[in-house]
Amino acid sequence: MGIVLQVLFALIFLASLGLAGMKLWRIRRNIFLGTPESLNDRKADRWKHMTLFALGQKKMFSKPLPAILHGFIYVSFVIVNVELIEIAVDGITGHHRTFAPYLGGFYTFMISLIEVLSALALLAAIVFLARRNVLKIKRFTQPELKGWPFKDANLILIMELILVTAILTMNAADFQLQQLGAAHYPDTGKLFVAQYTSAVFSGMEMHQLEIVERSAWWLHILGILFFLNYLPYSKHLHIILAFPNAWYVRFTSPGAIQNMPVIANEVKTMLDPSATPEPVAFTPKTFGAKDVTDLSWKSLLDAYSCTECGRCTASCPANITGKQLSPRKIMMDTRDRLEEVGRNLDKHGSVQDDGKSLLGDYISIEEIRACTTCNACVDACPVSINPLNIILELRRYAIMEQSNAPQEWNMMFNNMENNQAPWQFNPADRLNWKNEI
Ligand code: SF4
Ligand code: SF4
Repeated sequence: MGIVLQVLFALIFLASLGLAGMKLWRIRRNIFLGTPESLNDRKADRWKHMTLFALGQKKMFSKPLPAILHGFIYVSFVIVNVELIEIAVDGITGHHRTFAPYLGGFYTFMISLIEVLSALALLAAIVFLARRNVLKIKRFTQPELKGWPFKDANLILIMELILVTAILTMNAADFQLQQLGAAHYPDTGKLFVAQYTSAVFSGMEMHQLEIVERSAWWLHILGILFFLNYLPYSKHLHIILAFPNAWYVRFTSPGAIQNMPVIANEVKTMLDPSATPEPVAFTPKTFGAKDVTDLSWKSLLDAYSCTECGRCTASCPANITGKQLSPRKIMMDTRDRLEEVGRNLDKHGSVQDDGKSLLGDYISIEEIRACTTCNACVDACPVSINPLNIILELRRYAIMEQSNAPQEWNMMFNNMENNQAPWQFNPADRLNWKNEI
């Protein structure tokens, strides 16, 4: 490779890493626009949770076939990144397959493994494209996926197809060049897939093979660098964020609703004036959340980690019975609004009032009122996301700050306050029923 190509490669490589790094830094900054929440205790349990749910994708196995196909794409993505180290070294130094002479049989094994995983990822990407575009599975055709989210999912699968095809083509042409004794093409040993697929190129001239091999090599690396920069704008950011999101999971019992400590203290002292108030780590500006900056940073990390798989919506009783609510949409709206607030911050240096908010402009009162707080969405999510927490915070705001609740709810709240029960009778009369037996 000439010096010009080496310099070009180094420039593209460094610029791509720099741009992706800047965008990831902005995402981290956006997440910490949320309110504080301490989630770093029980480290051993967090390691276990992250290993099982992010690395092991435990929840995915409730549907084994998609889990296995997703596993092909995921493992091939991780292993192919190991190969990237060699590609970067080759690109900058001008060598070809720098590690092959040093690693011998292990190199043959690694590249063969990458080939097999690439072939399986190719198969998985085709099946996933068919599920979305031919079989039109309900989970992938619901209203919140119309437009860009649907295209994003397809685009990433097409990119995956191009990347793995480039790897397989590059190796097949390379293997054929080795058989012809081409200079600068070191012996890789018998590659598991390329030893067969190289037959496609038999009969081609050496210079033609070099053009094919180099074109596939550049397509592969440019594709990966494009993918890296596309990732932060796509739902596929979960490839990275699934890990921190699993680490910072809330270890509350399933369905537990987080109290507001300031309110809990008031209620406790109302019931027992001698009660000692609990220490309050953080006093919120509002009751509940009107906008993304009122939500915990963990809820904002959740929003960026959402894969838009729709498993939450598919198990949501409100959605199944035709209500407006979709927990997937709650997460997508939160992310979209947070991105909007982030752009506002980029433009003005601090977040300026744009007259918009998550509640009202993105998520309607009808949606949040439809939630039964059953927790099914939290239970179904493969990446430890909690849409219910966001719904409850928005509902708290609507009720406590805007007094925006249906009349039946207000009657129940009054009864709770006056009678310590949802019904309209004196607490002293609670056991009257037994007199009627
Ligand atoms: S908690 Fe609410 S949003 Fe989640 S599944 Fe139940 S009804 Fe749907
Ligand atoms: S919240 Fe979880 S289950 Fe729902 S769409 Fe996002 S990743 Fe899927």
